[in-house]
Amino acid sequence: MKTDIKSLTYEKLNNEITELGLPAFRAKQIFKWLHEVGVKSFDEMTNLSKELRQKLDERYYISSCEIEDKYVSKIDGTVKYLFRLFDGEYIESVVMDYKYGRTICVSSQVGCKMGCNFCASTLAGFKRNLTAGEIESQLHAAQHDLGIRISNIVMMGIGEPLDNFDNVIGFLSIVNDENGLNISMRNITVSTCGIVPKIYELMKLDLQLTLTISLHAPNDEIRSATMPVNNKYGIDELIKACRDYAEHTGRRVSFEYTLIHNVNDKTEHANELADRLNGMLCHVNLIPLNNVTERDNKRSTDSAVNNFQSVLKNRGINATIRRTLGADINASCGQLRYNKRGDN
Ligand code: SAH
Repeated sequence: MKTDIKSLTYEKLNNEITELGLPAFRAKQIFKWLHEVGVKSFDEMTNLSKELRQKLDERYYISSCEIEDKYVSKIDGTVKYLFRLFDGEYIESVVMDYKYGRTICVSSQVGCKMGCNFCASTLAGFKRNLTAGEIESQLHAAQHDLGIRISNIVMMGIGEPLDNFDNVIGFLSIVNDENGLNISMRNITVSTCGIVPKIYELMKLDLQLTLTISLHAPNDEIRSATMPVNNKYGIDELIKACRDYAEHTGRRVSFEYTLIHNVNDKTEHANELADRLNGMLCHVNLIPLNNVTERDNKRSTDSAVNNFQSVLKNRGINATIRRTLGADINASCGQLRYNKRGDN
């Protein structure tokens, strides 16, 4: 069985290279090819001898993903990819242009186990975790295709990052490495539906990334009705973990709150949320629901969205309304993979 060389952190690669009896500078060369350049074969590593390339090829493979479909929004230039993996599975990524740089939204798993009832990612079921190399390959594929450099990463594609903890941490270490893509932790967001023990595990690593919680509800009753994870880790426990996280890391925690018509978008809900977040170093991102045809929830009215924001602001809570990008290309993740399953 060959090992996926692209999923090795710099430290691990270095150890393997030493074990092979090679000088340390080779590890740096190979790491740069794999991550800074994003090659798909050892033959492209032109500063290595043919013998060494062959030796590597016998022991390792390089994970990658191929473009199956690509959609470009006519409204805002947002690009959405459906990528095919080596085993015929599909994942999705979205590239958005913000004034502070190009941002990619990457998938962390093939499918999702979390079962949130408004989300498309869970519809076609959970298949497997992505390796660190596969998560990173989404950046390489998009960069090569668009001829651009990506500066920001949000882990808000298909999957629950904290349910694939080790591979996600490996990915973060690899993209953050100065010999690789060298993307600052401050430009990386990890989003979770709220797996509390893993939030504490992440906290202990003290990374300067942004933690985002998909909260979507001000109380257990509403949250449990839409997000099964809440039955395991209730809202009190979750918010406590976020307060601890913000205190320990000094980083502001972000909350995603998707507004669903008549479900969680009333004034009383905004007040309840404000009570919970009182005094915390945090930010609330209000998201008008993306209508997913297979789901029956409805988007809140504009006035309900604006009202929700002003209630939070009046209570001293930092709240913004998420701009919708890629509305014409089904840019919220899970939809393409779900539609594709018939071809499988
Ligand atoms: N599992 C992680 C990462 C996925 S992030 C998490 O839950 O945070 C994807 C984000 O899009 C989450 O905040 C999710 O709740 C939100 N989302 C899912 N379906 C949506 C929809 N139909 N409209 C708006 N936001 C949605």
